[in-house]
Amino acid sequence: MVKTRFAPSPTGFLHVGGARTALFSWLYARHCNGEFVLRIEDTDRERSTQPAIDAILESMQWLNLNWDEGPYYQTKRFDRYKEVINELLEKGLAYKCYCSKERLEKMRQEQMEKGLKPRYDGHCRDDHSEHAPDEPYVIRFRNPDTGTVAFDDLVKGHIEFQNSELDDFIIQRSDGTPTYNFCVVVDDYDMGITHVIRGDDHVNNTPRQINLYKALGAKIPVFCHVAMILGDDGTKLSKRHGAVSVMQYREDGYLPEALVNYLVRLGWSHGDQEIFSREEMIEWFDPAQISKSASSFNTKKLDWLNAHYMKTLPVEDVAKELVWHLNRIGVTDLSQGPAPELVVKNYAERTHTLKEMAQKARCYYEDFTEYDPAGVKKWIKEGSVDVLKAALESLNSLSSWEPQAIDEVLEALAKRLEIGMGKVGQPLRLAMTGTAMSPGIGDTMVLVGRDRALKRIEKAIA
Ligand code: GLU
Repeated sequence: MVKTRFAPSPTGFLHVGGARTALFSWLYARHCNGEFVLRIEDTDRERSTQPAIDAILESMQWLNLNWDEGPYYQTKRFDRYKEVINELLEKGLAYKCYCSKERLEKMRQEQMEKGLKPRYDGHCRDDHSEHAPDEPYVIRFRNPDTGTVAFDDLVKGHIEFQNSELDDFIIQRSDGTPTYNFCVVVDDYDMGITHVIRGDDHVNNTPRQINLYKALGAKIPVFCHVAMILGDDGTKLSKRHGAVSVMQYREDGYLPEALVNYLVRLGWSHGDQEIFSREEMIEWFDPAQISKSASSFNTKKLDWLNAHYMKTLPVEDVAKELVWHLNRIGVTDLSQGPAPELVVKNYAERTHTLKEMAQKARCYYEDFTEYDPAGVKKWIKEGSVDVLKAALESLNSLSSWEPQAIDEVLEALAKRLEIGMGKVGQPLRLAMTGTAMSPGIGDTMVLVGRDRALKRIEKAIA
């Protein structure tokens, strides 16, 4: 059975690059009817934080990338790492290294002077001398000296390293904590991971990890290293380019479906199709089709996808996200306003993001105190108050509070007063929403609700 994993280090928020790696791993597991594991790589205790862990879990849930196992935490597996380290020590596949910082520094200097790449010289490999119990040491993996270590990466193809280029890397620090290159192998082995899909910044770690798999007698997983994401200026995507954290995209008003669809196309394609349902992504995703080269982030395309999903997803789904945004701007009591679904129906075509939609919808849930000055200047003229008074009278006697009935009454009023519909509708819009921009006036008034609408006209007249 195929088993993949996403193994973020919780040192910051979930970045879109990490989210894409998670998505690819998730898709491949789902495509193969396999399993997907979430593992938090928190051994670096100084840089790992609880808010970062929370943000990762929240982002994964928001993107709807569900995991079958986990989240596992490396800090809860220290006993297991100790056990494996002891096993390696006993078999002579790892050893304690007492080299001082000064010695290592001197060694490095000398190697560099000779034009060599700095590399641990194996000084303590066969050191059997006695050491004081409190003398600090690290534990190193005994990397093979000769031969090559090779793997066939699903994206990058055949990759080969000379063992002579690799050194005896540290698997346990002097404070007793295990290192990334070690834990990742023990974990992937214990968890039965068959395919390691991750960023290509780990390509150089892979040969070391493969040697460790061999030392443990473990089956080596298939590797798939995905190229990074670039910003619009061709440099690695970072904060300088704007939003990079998944939760920032949520706050900016994107739908998870839009972000997922956007991310899947960053480095993967299926013909020239741009819009994919989850089912299609799962059915067609193939890591062998992942592009070898880096992909560039394109906010315009994400905007386009967001607009698409705002219009085409089931309204209930969009409404759920709208509620989150309303809450976020402090609109928490929705009981006096319209069903959020109705807002979505009216605003999906008129707004670009859910953040914008929530801002525009605020007036349907809460009273406002100011009218947009530009709207007032343009539409409130001599006689507007009389128009509003007449409208109030007609609307008051209206028995059904439906968009069409409201529109008909107001059109009849415009006709009777011999003025354009704008001169009726716009002052009313200002009275309803505080702005001169909203859906059709009948729809707007239904969103506001009968009692509140009539009160707002009275208030505007006063
Ligand atoms: N924890 C590593 C990182 O966040 C990923 C390790 C892996 O996927 O092998 O970069």
